[in-house]
Amino acid sequence: NTTTSAYHIALEDEHGAHNYHPLPVVLSKGQGCHVWDVEGKQYFDFLSAYSAVNQGHCHPRIIDVMVEQSRKLTLTSRAFHNDQLGEYEKYLTNYFKFDKVLPMNTGAEAVETAIKLCRKWGYEKKGIPADQARIIVCGQNFHGRTVTIISFSSDPDAKGNFGPYTPGFVSVPYGDADAMRAALADDPETIAGVLVEPIQGEAGVFVPPAGYLSAIRDACAKHNVLFIADEIQTGIGRTGGLLRICGDCSCAGHCERQPDTYLRPDILILGKALSGGTYPVSAVLADNEVMDVIKPGQHGSTFGGNPVACAVAREALEVVVDEKLTQNARHLGNVFRARMQELVDAYPALFTKVRGKGLLNAVIINDSETSKTAWNFCVAMAEAGLLAKPTHGNIIRFAPPLVITEAQLNEACDIIAGVAEGF
Ligand code: PLP
Repeated sequence: NTTTSAYHIALEDEHGAHNYHPLPVVLSKGQGCHVWDVEGKQYFDFLSAYSAVNQGHCHPRIIDVMVEQSRKLTLTSRAFHNDQLGEYEKYLTNYFKFDKVLPMNTGAEAVETAIKLCRKWGYEKKGIPADQARIIVCGQNFHGRTVTIISFSSDPDAKGNFGPYTPGFVSVPYGDADAMRAALADDPETIAGVLVEPIQGEAGVFVPPAGYLSAIRDACAKHNVLFIADEIQTGIGRTGGLLRICGDCSCAGHCERQPDTYLRPDILILGKALSGGTYPVSAVLADNEVMDVIKPGQHGSTFGGNPVACAVAREALEVVVDEKLTQNARHLGNVFRARMQELVDAYPALFTKVRGKGLLNAVIINDSETSKTAWNFCVAMAEAGLLAKPTHGNIIRFAPPLVITEAQLNEACDIIAGVAEGF
């Protein structure tokens, strides 16, 4: 029977590489904050494709633009100009207030791009001796899956048996400003950049202490080191500001960027929700002083900056503003954490904690990292009509599309509470 979940799962099992361990749910439709499986069962999506579907599944405005552009022109490569790229670049750089953008497709490609840009700037502008450039990263980071990126991962699954690794990275504990300052003060002449996630999403939604990011920014400025923010998961409304690095500025990222409220990185990396989850679109933003070190022939991608991606990304960003998604994420994040805190208080044997910002949150299960409790809880939630996944062992991430309404969020919280009660 080709209409059952079991059929599709068996196909993947037999013909696909086993590089993921999905929940046993086969989805065939999505709209807003809901998805449906092949049997027709409806679920709340509380993963949002790892925060790519911030604007909600199949947002009609984004889909219309994608279909319309797909009928006109899909790909030119960068061998020729296209009539969408310049308009998009103007729009995006104006939106995030940078001089220039380098368009790519996936998050990992954008991180690779930022690393190349940073190293080249280090040699050509800072004067680092040939092949000596170092970039400081944080423990438990997640920046993607390429060989260079996993070279500075601390996750044995991500890294094991994929060597030899790319040199030139130094890792310090996340959230520890003193450790970061010490690493920056150790031979700063060879340090080109610091690469950080403003909140570590994959690691389990770790929110660094207040003042951590500004301490890094200040230390980078002191040593002439580029501050690189990977906002692939945290950016574009998810954490209750346009960017997480905007911190708790009440403008949600659309203010005039007061220096004390807007912590501007030297290089900003975006992906995921840049297309509303409809198409792989990523971007690296920087000012001329940095971006102009890249010359023709030195970096690129066949699909990067293609007309469909450009048209889709513009619309996806318009939707964020028009539907006030940053503000919604900020408000509903507070509602969600308050509801989850009630559960933590009611079931201390099951839960230990809730944490997060905006609609990027995690609930910590009161069990060891190697236990199956979080997984089993997610399976029980799926049966009850809500999809979420453990990040690391005992941590469950909750990240619904930002278009979710307060009534829908409360309905979803009722589902989680019901599962906790019966667990
Ligand atoms: N950086 C961060 C912070 C991420 O969360 C992710 C994906 O989860 C990536 C980079 C990699 O993005 P992609 O999977 O599109 O390569």
